[in-house]
Amino acid sequence: MNLFFGAALAKALGDAQEKMDKEAFAANREKMVTGETKALRDQVERLCMLNQAMWELVSEKLGLTDADLEKKAVEVDLRDGKLDGKMTAHPVRCPQCGRVSNSRHKKCMYCNLEFEGTAFG
Ligand SMILES: [Zn+2]
Repeated sequence: MNLFFGAALAKALGDAQEKMDKEAFAANREKMVTGETKALRDQVERLCMLNQAMWELVSEKLGLTDADLEKKAVEVDLRDGKLDGKMTAHPVRCPQCGRVSNSRHKKCMYCNLEFEGTAFG
C-alpha cells in the first residue's frame, strides 16, 4: 500500500464513519421527536377528555347550555384582543391603579377592576 492510497483510504473511512454518525444522530433525534410528539398528543387528548367531563358536570349541576359555554369562550378569546381561538397572554396596564396584569385575567389582580372586552391593553 503506497502512502497516497493509505491516506485516501483513511479519509474515506473517516468520511464514512462521520456519515454513519450523522445518520445515527438524525435517526435518534427523529425517534425522540416522534416520542415527544406522541406524549404531547396523549396529554392533549387526556386534557380534552377531562375538559369534556368537567363541562358535562358543570353544565348538569348549574343548568348551563352549550350556548352559554360558546358565549363565555368568545369573551375569554377576546381578552387578548383577537378572536382567534387562542389565549395569547400579554401585559395590560390597569386604567385604575396603573399596575400591570396579565391579559388572561378578567380583573386587575391588584385593585380588582373588571377589564372590559378589548378596551384595555
Ligand atoms: Zn388595578
